[in-house]
Amino acid sequence: MNKRIGIIGSGTSGLQLTYSLKNDFDVTMLHYEEPGEILRGRIQSTQVHFRPTLDREHRFHMPETDAAPSIKSIHFSMGQQKLFVGRLTGTAASIDQRMAYSQAMNDLEQRGVRFRKARIIPEELKTLAESYDLLIDATGKSGPLAPFPVEVELTPFHTPQRKCIVGYFTGVAPVEPEGISITVLPGTGEMFEIPALTEQGPVTILFIEAVPQGKLDAFIGVRTSQDFVERMKSILQDNFPEIYGRIDPDRFSLVDESAYLQTAITPVIRQPYLMLNDTLVLGCGDSVILADPITGQGCNTASYCAEQLYETLMAHKESAWDEQIGIDYWRRIGPYVKAVTEWTNAMTGPLPEHVAQILMKAATDQQVADQVAHWFEVPTKAHEAFFR
Ligand SMILES: Cc1cc2nc3c(=O)[nH]c(=O)nc-3n(C[C@H](O)[C@H](O)[C@H](O)COP(=O)(O)OP(=O)(O)OC[C@H]3O[C@@H](n4cnc5c(N)ncnc54)[C@H](O)[C@@H]3O)c2cc1C
Repeated sequence: MNKRIGIIGSGTSGLQLTYSLKNDFDVTMLHYEEPGEILRGRIQSTQVHFRPTLDREHRFHMPETDAAPSIKSIHFSMGQQKLFVGRLTGTAASIDQRMAYSQAMNDLEQRGVRFRKARIIPEELKTLAESYDLLIDATGKSGPLAPFPVEVELTPFHTPQRKCIVGYFTGVAPVEPEGISITVLPGTGEMFEIPALTEQGPVTILFIEAVPQGKLDAFIGVRTSQDFVERMKSILQDNFPEIYGRIDPDRFSLVDESAYLQTAITPVIRQPYLMLNDTLVLGCGDSVILADPITGQGCNTASYCAEQLYETLMAHKESAWDEQIGIDYWRRIGPYVKAVTEWTNAMTGPLPEHVAQILMKAATDQQVADQVAHWFEVPTKAHEAFFR
């Protein structure tokens, strides 16, 4: 009989895990929203899946589309000065999670994966664990459900370092060549402009990372979508005139009433395994590796960890599943998690002098510009550059 795995959460990590594990194990996906509810619901995030993540999704036969805008480059500006355009080594894509998650859930159901609709609460875990050989807590930033211990050395902050303000807009002419655009306003925050695909067609995501109480932290009290659009317009006009100049005032609006978000993340890293009575519980994705989105790595880290978790389980397919499996999984992902976490945390502070010099050099040296773009595809390279 195949071992039984319960995966709690149908997001980036839970879905990739289900695709990868469904042929070798008896997988049940526990989720609390139906695909249609997710599709019509509020955005939770932005998302850029860099080439290594898209390759993993391809490996596990996840749904693919070539309709998403091609993200081939990263434009970088400091203040009002455009510094460089770095080329990515592979095309990246940003597909509205509402669309991607609901499509994948429908596809998995058609392929015979068992779904159980339930909003699991922590008190239920012990009873739930009795029905499985392994529970995976993939509950994202609202998790974890299991009391995974905090890794103190990788968790230096106790409050959010940024306010995250996101809208999915129509009516913004794209940058040329098409790609992500990052504008840093030192001491104040950052603006990320991301071309993306939604159910209604292509959009431009405007994503502000505002230093709390700074001048970009200007959305407090904004309650309606119309207020949100107006506030974004005035923030662009005052702080990002280049983007403001690419707006078509008649078409500038949210793609739908639920396409905006305000949140703030306190980063926390947890040891992703524990035993609950005799059942192993593992964490994957934001439930255990939660970072500020400033480096756009959350989905990519979730995908990386989900693949390593798959490899761990396949290597121990026939043996007993106990704490040793968790130790092996943590040993595999630990170096990557440390690198991406330390880089991301460093990005929320003032840029180190030697990094500022790399960015200035990138303005006149295309090879360096491309290397900087590559940091986002392979964050261990960014870590090497920051902590050399
Ligand atoms: C503002 C913002 C911008 C971001 N931008 C980027 C970016 O550009 N690039 C990038 O790579 N990452 C980005 N991220 C991070 C990225 O969205 C997450 O890291 C990624 O979605 C994590 O995947 P996950 O599977 O851990 O969680 P999620 O994708 O959030 O999925 C969690 C799932 O668990 C379910 N769930 C939760 N609680 C329960 C429960 N009790 N019972 C049952 N189900 C439950 C939820 O319904 C959901 O389906 C951003 C995040 C934010 C907040």
